[in-house]
Amino acid sequence: RSRERNIRILLNERLPKELVGILHEAGELADELEQSIYAVGGFVRDILMDTPNLDLDLVVEGDGIAFAQALGDKLGGRVRAHRKFQTAVIVLPDGQHIDVATARLEYYEYPAALPTVELSSIKMDLYRRDFTINALAVQLNKSQFGRLVDFFGAQRDIKNRVIRVLHSLSFVEDPTRILRAIRFAQRYSFQIGGQTERLIKNALGLGMMEKLSGSRLFNEMCLIFEEKTALACLRQMRDLRLLSAIHPMLTLSPAQEELLEEIEKVLEWYRLLYLNHAPRSWIIYFMALANGAKDEETQSLAERFNLTPKQINDFLALRKQLNQSIYHYKMWKHRKGPLSQLCFQLDELPVEGVLFFMSKFKQEATRRDLSQYLTRLKDAELDISGRDLQLAGLPEGPAYGEILKKVRAAMLDGNASCREDQLNLVRKIIKDPAYIGLEPHPRTKKD
Ligand code: ATP
Repeated sequence: RSRERNIRILLNERLPKELVGILHEAGELADELEQSIYAVGGFVRDILMDTPNLDLDLVVEGDGIAFAQALGDKLGGRVRAHRKFQTAVIVLPDGQHIDVATARLEYYEYPAALPTVELSSIKMDLYRRDFTINALAVQLNKSQFGRLVDFFGAQRDIKNRVIRVLHSLSFVEDPTRILRAIRFAQRYSFQIGGQTERLIKNALGLGMMEKLSGSRLFNEMCLIFEEKTALACLRQMRDLRLLSAIHPMLTLSPAQEELLEEIEKVLEWYRLLYLNHAPRSWIIYFMALANGAKDEETQSLAERFNLTPKQINDFLALRKQLNQSIYHYKMWKHRKGPLSQLCFQLDELPVEGVLFFMSKFKQEATRRDLSQYLTRLKDAELDISGRDLQLAGLPEGPAYGEILKKVRAAMLDGNASCREDQLNLVRKIIKDPAYIGLEPHPRTKKD
């Protein structure tokens, strides 16, 4: 039996009011439909650990899709159902997602005429999960609101800071759990339990990693690369001989470790600065893991991760483009070129390339130039637009782009910082296109 405890007070203390409201609404709705409902998984784990996590996962003992539709109506959200899996996603007006799954009652027929056993479906649902800490549920029905359901000792494991699987075939059933164990262990500074670590080694000995499909492997690696502790995960993967089982090229040399340390710092800096723009971290980490490798080796690594042709292209193109950008940057520095030139050259590089560039070159001056580009120059907007060129009487055509680019260059170099100066420059150029090396344009209406 689960250890009974009510965490209603924790819910109130640790969650935003609106979310607590949603939990109550879900509970009341389930009462009306005569179903049991639970919040489950990482959401519950993170409440107990007092870590912010607003990704609500619900499990309904009954009909999850019908429930999701009713809750969606109540909350004014849209509902997408996946009939095959009996799951649904509610998308609330503010963009927040709520996942809803169905737990079915299961009957176990024992041989030799023993009676059929009815297992509570929430218990079965939790038993299929990866680790004890992720196998918690909180009931939301009104009379039981806040009842914590812990069948597998998750509270004890959180207290002792250990990652533990629920049964001994767990990693053989799903080897991605090996990567998940490492990811959670590093994220929360937990240990992987002794028996669980033996089971990992056992699964590796059975060649489970080699059997894992490239796309599932890639998905899990991407999740690792989103963590602040990605490098620690890679180190633990190396220590458990997981990296080499994935691909012999993944050796994590001292030079790579050093580069990865810088990547982690640069990514943290960037993520703090741009909370709403997530760079494609995987591509940056791949650049580091394939740093110094030949194109064929990189190709073979890409095949192991079953990357799509587009992903491979993006990656190889980025690598090539980066070399050019580094070359141009050095020339620019040497010639003490204007900021606009640096900016136009770096504009060719996706942001992931700039971040990798920053990680690779630790010199303060280089970092200053590149961070100045990202924070001040890259998205600096002109105070004028094509509309102003129209109003100035310039016939529409390719000259628009070129003129705006010139004005932008002047702005970046500090020579046309306000709208007035930019308009003056436009007038000057329209009067005398040769001023910026343009062909004379057809006479304008104003002339
Ligand atoms: P995160 O904080 O990284 O989002 P999470 O625990 O919410 O962590 P998800 O990947 O969203 O992780 O998974 C939701 C839940 O589904 C987990 O808490 C876990 O119970 C279960 N789960 C996910 N992946 C697996 C798996 N491979 N095997 C078993 N259970 C899994």
